[in-house]
Amino acid sequence: MATTAPPKTKQSSGLAEFVRLNANRATIVAFFHVVVPFVGTVVAVALLWQNPIGWVEVALLLGLFFPTFLGVTVGFHRYLVHRSFRTNRVVEAVLIVLGSMAAEGLPIFWAAGHRRHHALSDTEGDPHRPADGLLHAQFGWLVKMDSHPDYDKYARDLLRDPYIVRLNRLYPLWLALSLLLPFAVAGWTGLLWGGFVRIFLVHHIGWGVNSIGHVFGNQPFKTNDNSRNLWFLGVLAMGDGWHNNHHAFPHSAFHGLRWWQIDLSGYLIRLLEATGLAWDVRRVTPAALKARNPSGAKVNNRDYLAGGTTTTASRAIE
Ligand SMILES: [Zn+2]
Ligand SMILES: [Zn+2]
Repeated sequence: MATTAPPKTKQSSGLAEFVRLNANRATIVAFFHVVVPFVGTVVAVALLWQNPIGWVEVALLLGLFFPTFLGVTVGFHRYLVHRSFRTNRVVEAVLIVLGSMAAEGLPIFWAAGHRRHHALSDTEGDPHRPADGLLHAQFGWLVKMDSHPDYDKYARDLLRDPYIVRLNRLYPLWLALSLLLPFAVAGWTGLLWGGFVRIFLVHHIGWGVNSIGHVFGNQPFKTNDNSRNLWFLGVLAMGDGWHNNHHAFPHSAFHGLRWWQIDLSGYLIRLLEATGLAWDVRRVTPAALKARNPSGAKVNNRDYLAGGTTTTASRAIE
């Protein structure tokens, strides 16, 4: 039976319109991902006046900061998105679980969004281009419906892998683990420092690559975008802050291309490779580097280049 839709009525307020447009599960979940660690960090800092932080809280903060951040940069970014090395299913699961514990969204959502970023960098359709505002690029894009990735286009290979899909589905469990673990060790202060403050730091240092990493810094390589190398983001964001290097050679397992470009994620991949836990590690060849670097700046970390000192087979990037 045919039904007639009720006549459209004008929304009574801007807020009602906002709720109508944004009231979907993904947006609400994203909102909590952004806001809860921020509020938790404010509470933790405010409580410092009464209860100075103890060594257990510091240990939880650092002990979870590095593994979960590396889970994002090595697991989500260099492995899932760019396939810059291969590994076994156990290491794959560990990396994806650790990355999920950073609370930046489902692994496949993260991967699809980032592939879209590379495909459309700094143009319309880039989920987080700074031209739409630095705060938008930092975290605002996460709670905007129109910024969600096109899964069919950007994550088809991941969605066809039942193992990755299963790890992806269990995301709420990894998220719970991320908060329950520090709570189990040190109670509420453990939850605040090892949970919320740690997640807040991983979030905003990592997301800084999307915002200021496309605005400030230098561009040794010519790329079709505004990506920059920003030294302190390179150090703090586990190597991902050498972002112009990365846009020039997206599939390289190493974002630091000179000896002084500290790249903790690259060091971890090298360690995995040396112990036989990673293989087919993708490296930039000297010829490709020279071709993309017309200024002729010297690059002298041969470990990062094809034909370096490692004996494991590697896939060269031409
Ligand atoms: Zn970028
Ligand atoms: Zn990337």
